[in-house]
Amino acid sequence: MKNCKHLTLKLINSMGKIYSFNLMQRFNLSDSGARTYLLYIERQGLVERLCNAQYRLTREGLNRLEWFEKYGCTSNDCRECKDKFKGEAITCDYCNNLSMFEDLRIEKEGLLIRPKPGVYCSHCENYLMSVKMAEKRKIKWIS
Ligand SMILES: [Zn+2]
Ligand SMILES: [Zn+2]
Repeated sequence: MKNCKHLTLKLINSMGKIYSFNLMQRFNLSDSGARTYLLYIERQGLVERLCNAQYRLTREGLNRLEWFEKYGCTSNDCRECKDKFKGEAITCDYCNNLSMFEDLRIEKEGLLIRPKPGVYCSHCENYLMSVKMAEKRKIKWIS
């Protein structure tokens, strides 16, 4: 399994705290590769290094993970997101309504119910995905 930010944050969250060798084992990285990756996400404020060389998620790291879980990450290698968003349909996290991509449209931002442009559930108005994710899936803009 290749590592991406989404799966790395998920691993750290599930273990609570990790050493760089946990990352090495899980994603088959070299020792220096795992360390470099942890430094990279530490600089982005997503993890913090503890005094015993372990890392844990920061509040921002947790927020980012929640975002990825809900809307998917943009990594092409992310197995998790490929599974969740694979095929031609998406399930709404809120009402479980299944929408086919061909029936969905990207909507412009509206007043209260649509604070940002993107794709919304036709059933409950829950935000389903960003414009970027939608365009990747060839969803058209509303005409
Ligand atoms: Zn992902
Ligand atoms: Zn819904």
